[in-house]
Amino acid sequence: MGYDVIVIGLGGMGSAAAYHLAARGQRVLGLEKFTPAHDKGSSHGGSRIIRQSYFEDPAYVPLLLRAYELWDQLATDTGLEVYRLTGGLFMGPSDAVTVAGSQRASQVWDLAHEMLDASEIRRRFPTVTPYPGDIALYEAKAGFARPEMTVQAHLNLAENAGAELHFGEPVIEWSETGGGVSVTTARGTYTAGQLVICPGAWAPALLAEFGIPITIERQVLYWFDPRGGTTPFENHPIWIHEDATGMQAYGFPAIDGPGGGVKVAFFRKGIVCTPETIDRTVHDQEITEMRHRVGQVVPALDGPCLHSATCMYSNTPDEHFVIARHPDSQNITVACGFSGHGFKFVPIVGEILADLAIDGVTGHPISLFDPKRLVTT
Ligand SMILES: Cc1cc2nc3c(=O)[nH]c(=O)nc-3n(C[C@H](O)[C@H](O)[C@H](O)COP(=O)(O)OP(=O)(O)OC[C@H]3O[C@@H](n4cnc5c(N)ncnc54)[C@H](O)[C@@H]3O)c2cc1C
Repeated sequence: MGYDVIVIGLGGMGSAAAYHLAARGQRVLGLEKFTPAHDKGSSHGGSRIIRQSYFEDPAYVPLLLRAYELWDQLATDTGLEVYRLTGGLFMGPSDAVTVAGSQRASQVWDLAHEMLDASEIRRRFPTVTPYPGDIALYEAKAGFARPEMTVQAHLNLAENAGAELHFGEPVIEWSETGGGVSVTTARGTYTAGQLVICPGAWAPALLAEFGIPITIERQVLYWFDPRGGTTPFENHPIWIHEDATGMQAYGFPAIDGPGGGVKVAFFRKGIVCTPETIDRTVHDQEITEMRHRVGQVVPALDGPCLHSATCMYSNTPDEHFVIARHPDSQNITVACGFSGHGFKFVPIVGEILADLAIDGVTGHPISLFDPKRLVTT
């Protein structure tokens, strides 16, 4: 075998997998179709929310506790601010998933949190105007990670640990050979004992035979120029606000200096697309809608949109991840379907993928991510 492990896709998950595998002495080849830390997939746009009071399901919390240790380790190993804790405000009606789900996860795992009513939210965070009747869960350990910096950090660490990484080299096909795998690109064919596939939004193409139903969704990120300047937003908590219809909007502190604006977005308000058909133009009507929504919660952001960007979610039907050994192969591991909330898990997904590729099992609780729940063919 040419390599111990080939990793396809060196975005968020694949870069972390390449690092963890190489750090454990594996001979790793990483294959990426674009440039390092590019902006064509799902891991760009400057910031990603990290949080532990996980409204999606309390089952994620033990993974988050380990992910936070690994975020800290990554920051120490690189000397880079790959993440920052800012506190997080999760707001809405008391029965909103954002509030009630966060509270449930905090209670199940005894996570430090505070419950705030609308007047207390306004008093503590004068930039925020909750809707009448809103409450919030405040989590001091929430914050943000920097996706491009994180991907590049993992790539650098992987190379320092001996991984061979090829960029601008799309994988055309892969197959099993006797006891291993063979991967073909335009430049050649490579063999290895194990294959780890981290395809992001290209999962439907690269994992077609797997039968995992993944829908790709276009998302838009917006940077608004705060009225009155960025100063009140420099040490701002990250926030998620859910309205009575269940629509969630979220925002970050001003992390790009005085001219950089404040990033906001809708959590799930996308259009189904493919990486080939995604509309990369952000339309005036979308900006107007975002401005109106965000202006109701953070009035200073009801101003000029400095710039915007598009990005892709890879959604499973239940919005939980897929991380597993291929059901029919001892040589293939997949990580996909991160459904718009995967980045905060990047370091631990790298650790889990290394466990699965090397040992076939992981000690981390990943039964929620078993693809058998989704496979229809
Ligand atoms: C707008 C937006 C906001 C988000 N906000 C948050 C947030 O606040 N918090 C959070 O935790 N998560 C968030 N997420 C989700 C998170 O960013 C993703 O779950 C995560 O980045 C997915 O990583 P990935 O490795 O699966 O995909 P990617 O990082 O896109 O990596 C997949 C890689 O595979 C490569 N590839 C594909 N096919 C091939 C091939 N044939 N050959 C070689 N290479 C190939 C691609 O080029 C790409 O580099 C957000 C996502 C988006 C889009």
